[in-house]
Amino acid sequence: MSASILFDAAVLRSVPCIVLPDEAGYAEACTPWNLAFPLHPAAVAVPRSVDDVIAAVTAAARAGLQVAPMSTGHLASTIAGRLDEALLLRMSELTGVSVDPVARTARVLGGTLWRDVVAAAAPHGLTAPHGSAGDVAVAGYVLGGGISFYGRRHGLASASVRAFEIVTADGTLVRASADEHHELFWALRGGGGSFGTVVAIELDLLPVADVFAGMLLWDVAHAPTVLRTWAAWTSHAPESATTALRIMRFPAIPELPPFLSGRSLVVIDGVILDDDATAAKLLAPLRALAPELDTFTRMPAAGVLDIHMDPPAPTPGVSDHAMMSGLPEEAIAVLLSVAGPGVETPLMVAELRHVGGAFDREQDGALRRLHGRYALFVLCAAPTPELCALGEDVTSEIVQLMSPWANGTLYSNFAEGRADASALYDPAARERLAAVRDHYDPTRLWVAAHAV
Ligand SMILES: Cc1cc2nc3c(=O)[nH]c(=O)nc-3n(C[C@H](O)[C@H](O)[C@H](O)COP(=O)(O)OP(=O)(O)OC[C@H]3O[C@@H](n4cnc5c(N)ncnc54)[C@H](O)[C@@H]3O)c2cc1C
Repeated sequence: MSASILFDAAVLRSVPCIVLPDEAGYAEACTPWNLAFPLHPAAVAVPRSVDDVIAAVTAAARAGLQVAPMSTGHLASTIAGRLDEALLLRMSELTGVSVDPVARTARVLGGTLWRDVVAAAAPHGLTAPHGSAGDVAVAGYVLGGGISFYGRRHGLASASVRAFEIVTADGTLVRASADEHHELFWALRGGGGSFGTVVAIELDLLPVADVFAGMLLWDVAHAPTVLRTWAAWTSHAPESATTALRIMRFPAIPELPPFLSGRSLVVIDGVILDDDATAAKLLAPLRALAPELDTFTRMPAAGVLDIHMDPPAPTPGVSDHAMMSGLPEEAIAVLLSVAGPGVETPLMVAELRHVGGAFDREQDGALRRLHGRYALFVLCAAPTPELCALGEDVTSEIVQLMSPWANGTLYSNFAEGRADASALYDPAARERLAAVRDHYDPTRLWVAAHAV
């Protein structure tokens, strides 16, 4: 530990919500959702109020530390190893949701999880543009854009935000909206976490009480037919349908239900925003492939949080991704050669999210659109450092093999490694983001998942 950090510790100890490495609770407060990437910051703060956030940020700045806001640590891989001289600002105790059913909006505090927003919205016949997992936080997700199962119709979740309340580098609480601090508002809609600590978000809810949603599941032996059929199906599916296809390999463990334990599968899941008859007609070509499990039905919108079967608790994983221009036969053949039936691989998930539609239409915000027709995401379990290193190699090799059909852009929420800003934002957005950062963070206080 350097002499300057020893001196700084005295400043930090005067703030009750800050915990230093030699104090009880440090290890627990630093543990991120992605357990493969342990974090060892100079100190960690667990604020329970906006005043706590301001006190922690001010003390860190006085002590000469940077500040890394984190809600859950789903994207911990991006900040691991960068926190030796930073305060980790863990937002998980600053949570809460209030819904205005008439305006169809929600106000959520800085560390709130999507599942709590969905639960609060449901009694009013509303839902939210959440992603596949309920334990992802609203803040990190909308700061990066937000791919939901409503997205081909409604666009990126970042476009649904009406206002951010944010503590800036000088410890000021600022409200950014279309009318106040407009440039900051623009930057926060998809431009990442380089501008301050988000302590509240107001966002539009969707007037959706129930949806036609679910999954279709086959043994991996059917992956060639299912993948080819889905690729053709998605090439003309309407914007009302947002689906994903995954080839998944599960270990044989008692915690998993029998239909998953020890099995390799191909799964299609998603949401179809149509009436039952239209949705059933649309799904018919996929159902014709005789899935062994078919859960597609009308369900309360809150049920959409369960269809993707994301891990229910913190998990170690390592991943890579690419935005794909298309899925021609050659690309399908390569994907099957690394993830299809008969392949011995440590790969756990090879996922294709169907994007396009409203995802690819211009919206106001630093992330103006998602380029590409599919997002490819590949994941290995990483319970040990050795398996983490192996997973890094395997996932990056697959992305490399698929690169002839990738468009060179990246999506920051799926970028678990270092992502160059030039792949995340177009040149005009990068320049504007840099200007906003110069204005609101001239001392470079913030450590964000992806710097601008
Ligand atoms: C199981 C799983 C499922 C997922 N599904 C989807 C999906 O369907 N669609 C999708 O788009 N993405 C999905 N993601 C990716 C997810 O959106 C990103 O990992 C996102 O960054 C997580 O946000 P977080 O706040 O929970 O994570 P964190 O790791 O806590 O935050 C990520 C970054 O966001 C910033 N940040 C977070 N909170 C704050 C705050 N309060 N103030 C300022 N900055 C903050 C920081 O820069 C931080 O490094 C998924 C990830 C996982 C692991």
